[in-house]
Amino acid sequence: VIMFLFACTDTSAPKTPRPEDSPIVKNADPVRIGFSMDTLLEERWLKDRELFKEAIENLGAEVEIVAANGDDALQISQAETLIQSGIDLLVIVPHNAAATAAIVHKAHLAGIQVIAYDRLVKNAELDMYISFDNEQVGKMQAEAMTALVPKGNYVFIGGAITDNNAHLLKEGVFKVLQPYIERGDIHVVYDQWTKDWTPANAQANMEQAIRTTNGQIDAVIAANDATAGGAIQALENHGLASKIPVAGQDADLAGVQRIVIGTQTMTVYKPIQILTQKVAEVAVAMAKGETVTANQQVNNGKKEVPSVLLAPIAVDIDNLETTVIEDGFHTAEDVYERS
Ligand code: BGC
Repeated sequence: VIMFLFACTDTSAPKTPRPEDSPIVKNADPVRIGFSMDTLLEERWLKDRELFKEAIENLGAEVEIVAANGDDALQISQAETLIQSGIDLLVIVPHNAAATAAIVHKAHLAGIQVIAYDRLVKNAELDMYISFDNEQVGKMQAEAMTALVPKGNYVFIGGAITDNNAHLLKEGVFKVLQPYIERGDIHVVYDQWTKDWTPANAQANMEQAIRTTNGQIDAVIAANDATAGGAIQALENHGLASKIPVAGQDADLAGVQRIVIGTQTMTVYKPIQILTQKVAEVAVAMAKGETVTANQQVNNGKKEVPSVLLAPIAVDIDNLETTVIEDGFHTAEDVYERS
């Protein structure tokens, strides 16, 4: 019966908070945000969860957090449960950029606005997208690698094909590599997506790259530190670790430890706290019906989505101290522990 109330809402109109007399609204205060996450299996997402909760609570609001472990159907049903529980706004980290459009649609039928967190939802009437500049992440990786290896055979271990960020990163990487490729200086000898960004799948990809090239590889760009870890494991199995530069992303503890011991060359650090703080502020303001402006727009196939794209930071052994460690993203004890 309750859902009928909202089924008539014109979803193309700007979303307004639910009417005060709605049977779902328990109380206008505090604001309740739903946070639907893809996975908690990677280090960064545990940070996202913890820092987002803190940021929301510091604003006097509440957050309900669920994670779907990479299962599209589960992410949709968890989001439906959140929507039915009467949240005021939904924040989502999509596992699958396309499949989660259904969630945006369902939220809108219930008068709930949706913010895409870190990863874009494609082909949906998404209300807001807040992330880092993911194309810039790829550019930073390729710039660092071409500075070190201006000529040679490159391996690209991509992210998950279902994640829009993996596509943006790849665009950034190839924009930088293109002139080198055209000059014949760089040959991309292997280029593959990594299902669900897992280290195991990345390792299998890297094994294949080593096999098909007879180990004739001069540089590896991996889409994140999880996939870099898998690729480096494969290099290690062939006695090639530390001999071939590898780029990653996220400044995962294992990634920066590898930078210290020399098996990984660089990573791209994205200060998660800046992201969580921004999303929390925007989410609470939108949930209260305040007008929020964004200075950028990203086309998701359906509309120009108001967007905020934060700046990533390239990190290698030279600036590890003044970035990741100074920010308290990792402690010096943790970073140098195993070196
Ligand atoms: C994020 C990366 C992360 C990857 C795998 C991407 O969408 O931007 O930071 O490493 O997903 O979880």
